[in-house]
Amino acid sequence: MERLQKVIARAGITSRRKAEDYIVDGRVAVDGKRVQELGTKVSEKAVIEVDGVPIQREEPVYFLLYKPGKVISAVKDDKDRAVVTDYIEDTEARIFPIGRLDYDTSGLLLLTNDGDFANLMMHPRSKIKKTYIAKVKGKPSKDTLRKLSRGVELEDGKTLPAKASFKSGNKQNDTSIIELVISEGRNHQIRRMLESVGHPVLKLKRERYAFLTLEGLQPGDFRKLKPVEVAQLR
Ligand code: URA
Repeated sequence: MERLQKVIARAGITSRRKAEDYIVDGRVAVDGKRVQELGTKVSEKAVIEVDGVPIQREEPVYFLLYKPGKVISAVKDDKDRAVVTDYIEDTEARIFPIGRLDYDTSGLLLLTNDGDFANLMMHPRSKIKKTYIAKVKGKPSKDTLRKLSRGVELEDGKTLPAKASFKSGNKQNDTSIIELVISEGRNHQIRRMLESVGHPVLKLKRERYAFLTLEGLQPGDFRKLKPVEVAQLR
């Protein structure tokens, strides 16, 4: 529950001071009923109207987080483990991650309070390219990389064309670094793709999301997206 004038001010309508005037003047309604009491507290779900126009409860905000490993891509965890929203210190907004990275996966994750934007980003039609760097067991052959690029059969259907390339190998411990660029976002997709060709993932990081990178950030760091970046993503 929050004070009505604070909620109105945060929505960018006016200052808290002026919001008090609006209330006293009878210009504000909560759930369809006019409210003129200054101490009134409102729930998060209440519909607030000023001069008959419903207000947007929060300014939309957009963040880019370098998610560390061992963090849940959620806003809360019933086992009390760290969640991605713990890292965004700059906001009171009710932000949530756009899609998910696995608990053990590190890398680029976007967060927002703008549900419309999140839906747009996650819609299969958006075909946003995501670049992953995977440390895998063994050394995938050229043929295997070609197979991954063309699409592999998973239990939820064949994957769309991707780009798989070999980056480096370590003969001593029989591991390789593989880059995979995909334009879908199925659950555990990279792990399942690599597993299906006999190269289980040992470590996974998302390096790129569309044109966005982790440049200048360390694990746990975040930054606000620039308006121009948000516009470009839309
Ligand atoms: N694919 C995976 O398997 N895991 C992730 O976290 C992201 C993509």
